[in-house]
Amino acid sequence: MRRDTIESLDMTGRLEIICGPMFAGKSTELIRRLREARHAQLDVAVFKPETDTRSGAASIRTHPGDRLDALPLKSASRLIEAIPSADRGLVVGVDEAHFFGSELIAPVRELLRRGNRVILAGVERDHRGQPFEPFPTLLCEADEVVKMAAVCGVCGGPAVHSQRLVRSDAAIVVGGAESYQARCRRCFEPG
Ligand SMILES: [Zn+2]
Repeated sequence: MRRDTIESLDMTGRLEIICGPMFAGKSTELIRRLREARHAQLDVAVFKPETDTRSGAASIRTHPGDRLDALPLKSASRLIEAIPSADRGLVVGVDEAHFFGSELIAPVRELLRRGNRVILAGVERDHRGQPFEPFPTLLCEADEVVKMAAVCGVCGGPAVHSQRLVRSDAAIVVGGAESYQARCRRCFEPG
């Protein structure tokens, strides 16, 4: 196959989604994929929501302590502003994608239209166990979906839910092990 044909095949855009409850290793898998892309000499840009203050100013830190530099974004619309339109071959990673909500859908579609490979990591179900945008929409459009399980904090079974341990009706409460616990379907208590 001619090289220009191969390159044009690479330009069709690709959406990969890594989702699951908290403490499932989603950021670790995101970092692994982005490091692999870097080793393949591809340009990589990594973003995270500014509201996620757990990881320090400008990096993704996974729970086992691995880290990767990431640009904090105030809102999903800044994603397109942060990437020059000429950067077609760029691999774009977004951690904690659920913090952006449905506002992330349009910028992700635009990046795919431009031919970018986009990798999103985040929680696809909220603390009540309900679908959490942008995931319901973007999971339908993804080329690859990786669902990761954590270990249930009560029984040790495979956990699919993020149990909120603090009292709050807010859709988003930023927190770690002090505020959330991974739970299996049987041990999960919505609300
Ligand atoms: Zn359980």
